[in-house]
Amino acid sequence: MSDNGFFGSFGGKYVAEVLRRPLDELEDAFNRATIDAAFLEELRLLQRDFIGRPTPLYFAENATKALGGAQIFIKMEGLAHTGAHKINNALGQALLAKTMGKTRIIAETGAGQHGLATAAACAKLGMPCEVFMGEVDIRRQQPNVAAMEMYGAKVIAVKSGSKTLKDAINEAMRDWAAQFDTTHYVIGSALGPAPFPDMVRFFQSVIGKEVQEQSKERKLDVAALCACVGGGSNAIGFFSPFIEKKEPRLIGAEAGGIGPGPNENAVRMSGSAAKDGIVHGYKSRFLLDEDGQVAETRSISAGLDYPGIGPQLASLGLSGRIEFRAITDEKALEALQFFARQEGILFAMESAHAGAVAMQMAKEIPANKAIIINMSGRGDKDIFITSPVFRPVEWELFLQSELDRLHQGVDIHYAKALPSAQKNEGNR
Ligand SMILES: *Cc1c(COP(=O)(O)O)cnc(C)c1O
Repeated sequence: MSDNGFFGSFGGKYVAEVLRRPLDELEDAFNRATIDAAFLEELRLLQRDFIGRPTPLYFAENATKALGGAQIFIKMEGLAHTGAHKINNALGQALLAKTMGKTRIIAETGAGQHGLATAAACAKLGMPCEVFMGEVDIRRQQPNVAAMEMYGAKVIAVKSGSKTLKDAINEAMRDWAAQFDTTHYVIGSALGPAPFPDMVRFFQSVIGKEVQEQSKERKLDVAALCACVGGGSNAIGFFSPFIEKKEPRLIGAEAGGIGPGPNENAVRMSGSAAKDGIVHGYKSRFLLDEDGQVAETRSISAGLDYPGIGPQLASLGLSGRIEFRAITDEKALEALQFFARQEGILFAMESAHAGAVAMQMAKEIPANKAIIINMSGRGDKDIFITSPVFRPVEWELFLQSELDRLHQGVDIHYAKALPSAQKNEGNR
């Protein structure tokens, strides 16, 4: 838990006066929910039947043999409903909002995965959902926009600033400040003003708790846990039961992008480029330009390019409890192929960064010990990123043939027949 919203000098509640009340109200409701047996039981059943928990802890036997060191295990969060860990948080917050009597959910999304998870959770709980998304991201992430709309969510195009994630967060905060009587804002990672970092960790800690039980059951001697770190929600949830202990080693993989230069990566902890700053209502380590504005970042994985990091991870990084390593796009792609071929498991590009860390470490750790990788998501969603890399010519032909098919108009028939297939004006 934070100390009054702070993790060391990071965290806090640096918000405009209008947001104090909704944040205080949320904090009260969250604190009550964590000791409310009925709430926790409802959450447990939804986690079991809707998300599909517990997710397996899988022994990667072939990978272990190939790497020749520690036993490699994979926590299969990618098997959670909607394909990643994000649903743990989205569902938890949406359920909390419902018990608070809120009738409308808003969320921000960058690559679309958090929007998708929130849209699905809201459909399940019968709550209307609006997702703020930068106009640029909407254009880049049409498959996820389509999925959100399929779940009945309204995607709202954000046209301010760089028209990406940071602007979507600002817009969602503004909307929340204006309508918090009816509305809850589901933030997508373990960041933002208190109580969000504590709350997101709480809902994601189901990952770590399961890992703790699963490794005890198998009598594993766990030497290290590896997770990728965007904002930090999968990492902090996975690490949470182990933070107060000396072991295992906790390792966060950051986006090394295409290199160590400015704007070439999203390295906030393992390099020296990041500075202390206050952005989006909390204090942490951020990549900033000379004017103190958040800098452009780069990564092959859309989920790891956030310019900041959750305050608890930043604090645990400085104290040395969590080690951080930068993994380049190239190393992540290698890890992606390695686990696909060795195990028949396709990691999300984000998670492949964690896989790459395990590959680096395996040999340094003896064979009677285990390394556990959190596969935060599965890789189906990344086909638009991986195909142009691995099969550029075939992919271009495929896209061309899809365009031809569209132009021939064979699918128009359904668009006319189904009223719901008409376009959402908001995001075009
Ligand atoms: C969003 C996302 C991440 C990064 O978010 P965190 O809050 O750092 O966990 C990592 N992996 C996948 C699959 C994601 O969708």
